[in-house]
Formats: sequence, structure tokens, C-alpha cells
Amino acid sequence: MIKFLDLQKINAQYEQELKEAAVKVIDSGWYLIGKELDSFEQNYASFCGTKYCLGVANGLDALRLIFRAYIELGLMKKGDEVIVPANTYIASVLAISDNSLVPVFVEPNEQTYNLDSEKIEKVITNKTKAILTVHLYGQNSVDEKILEVCKKNDLKLVEDAAQSHGALWQGKVMGSIGDAAGHSFYPGKNLGALGDAGAVTTSDETLAKTIKGLRNYGSEKKYENIYKGFNSRLDEIQAAFLNVKLKYIQNDIKARRDIAYYYLKNINNSNITLPNVLSKEGHVWHVFVVRCKKRDALQKFLMDNGIQTLIHYPIPIFRQKAYKEFNHMNYSITDMIHKEVLSIPISSVLDKTSLQKIIGVINSFN
Ligand SMILES: *Cc1c(COP(=O)(O)O)cnc(C)c1O
Repeated sequence: MIKFLDLQKINAQYEQELKEAAVKVIDSGWYLIGKELDSFEQNYASFCGTKYCLGVANGLDALRLIFRAYIELGLMKKGDEVIVPANTYIASVLAISDNSLVPVFVEPNEQTYNLDSEKIEKVITNKTKAILTVHLYGQNSVDEKILEVCKKNDLKLVEDAAQSHGALWQGKVMGSIGDAAGHSFYPGKNLGALGDAGAVTTSDETLAKTIKGLRNYGSEKKYENIYKGFNSRLDEIQAAFLNVKLKYIQNDIKARRDIAYYYLKNINNSNITLPNVLSKEGHVWHVFVVRCKKRDALQKFLMDNGIQTLIHYPIPIFRQKAYKEFNHMNYSITDMIHKEVLSIPISSVLDKTSLQKIIGVINSFN
């Protein structure tokens, strides 16, 4: 079977270095907030082009801590509104509601599946404090319009960069465009740890300092607690693994891009809508998402032919039980996307034979 994502094979590419990194941490006797984290924070900040990077336990925490820090700094308060695309992973929205802020959904652009900047202004109220834009599937979601709306309405721009490590917009790396960004290094992400890990990037010194305290029980000095904080730290061993894998991220991006363009050139089936690419550098292809009106039949057809696929995502957030207060709302583009999308295999270890097989099977579907 062609797996959707073969994590064993992906990490086997760096086996020797990962094992050496683990041994180094084990032998050091120091497992949290140490040298490996320090060096990863410096490496990742420089990769993104931000002044600061703060390692945290996971991507959801990275986003939660950003909003919590804004609350601690008095820039946001309970009941304030945050604009977020209706089409995203639930973590984006949990980060908002967990801080007693109110998510305000905006329909995505039908071509990019990302936040539609033309629809933002209509939902702005005097309680709106931020936009959380998500670079979904690995594609940049920022444009001049979003920046202009933020500036005009004095809104913070927060990026959910969980899926977009290394994607560029106007020469800037995702995570350096807004006021702050949350990154996830969940094993299946493009830059994946071998367990949970995440980070905040920002060039705002005050925000960085606040988050540094918040992630460690709300304390900047041991046993003195300024905030009601979290325990959200990035383990030394995961930081060590990430230091290894970050060195090879450009190879990973190139491999994904080559596959994506091969799919775009060779998939040819009138039942299938291929993804739209805004710019080559703007997309790092965390997932390759096609649309098909007969999505479930396509998924079964691929599975019957030995090809594993996934759906990102099957149920819109506004239809989830967890968000019943939104169940009565109507987001038809988001609904359409959730009914039609299918993610086909893409990764740095997908070989040419598998790739050609996938294309052949997709092209024969009717
Ligand atoms: C993976 C992901 C997250 C959450 O990251 P975790 O590390 O799993 O907590 C947040 N937002 C998006 C868009 C994601 O894909």
C-alpha cells in the first residue's frame, strides 16, 4: 500500500544524526529549558526572520499563549472578537475560545481555501481585536488587503503557521509577517519533531517576554509568579531533533514542490479540481488537496487500488458539537470544501513509481 505519510521513512533519512542528538541529551542530564532549546530558538528565529522564537509544548499552546499574553498585557479582554477563517483546523479556534475570546468566522476564498480578505471588513465590530489567519495546507494566506485592514482598524495580525514552515510572501517567511505566529512541530508537519512540540515567533519584545513567563508557570524568576501561567515547554530532546531536521527543511520543501508540480502537470480528470498556486515560493505543500464532487467514491477507489488518502477536514468547526453555539450558522463555501476535499500522498520520501501509480489511478477514476 502507498501510505498517506510514511513517518518511519521520513525520519530514517536522518537516523544517524537523530540518534546522536538523543544520546547527547540523555547523557547531558539536562532535559528541559537548556542548550538545545536555546539553540533551536535561535535557529528557528533566524529561519523565520524574527527577533524571537519561544519553544512551547505544541502548536495549540503556541496560539493559546499568544492570545493569553495579549490579555495579560491588557490589549485584549474576555468577550473580544477574533476573526478566523471558517475553514481551518479546530486548534486555531480553540486557541481563541480557550481564552474567553469570541471566534468570528469568515468564509474562505474558493480558489485558495484561505481567509478571504475581501470579506473581513464586513464582520469588524468595536470588539474586534485581532485576525488569526491560517496558512492552510502550506500556502501563504497574507495579502496587502489583510495588512491594510489590520492597520486601519488597529487589529493584531496573528499567523497560524502550523502547516507552512518556510513558505514565503514577498520574500518574508511565514511567521514573520504578522505581530506573532504559532508554529506546530507535530510529527506529521513539514518540520516534525518525534513527539509534540511548537513555537511562537515574534519580533515584539514585550510579547516575547510575556510568553516566556507564561510557558513556565507564569514566572520569570523561579518561584515568583507574575501570571497564572501554563506548563508548556519544548523538551530538550525534541529541540535536539528539531535542530537536526531544520538543517534539511529546504530539501523537504523542494521534494514536496517537485511532487506538487508533477501532480499539477499530470493529473488530468474532469472530475477533479486541482489546487491553485498563488506563487511557487508561497506554498510548501504540507498537504496536496484535490476536490471532487464524488469525493467519498474517489477515496474508496484509491484505497481499493492501494493508495491511502486523508480528508482535511471532514467536519467544519461550526458544525462540531464542541461549538454548538455556531451550529445554526451558514457557511456554504466552507461546507462545500469539507464535502469535496481529499488529500493525496505527498512527502520527501514518496518515490516516482508510487507517484506515477497515484496519477494513473486518479486519471482512471470516473
Ligand atoms: C497542527 C495544527 C495546529 C496544532 O498543532 P499541534 O502541535 O497539534 O497542537 C494548529 N493549527 C493548524 C492549522 C494545524 O494544522
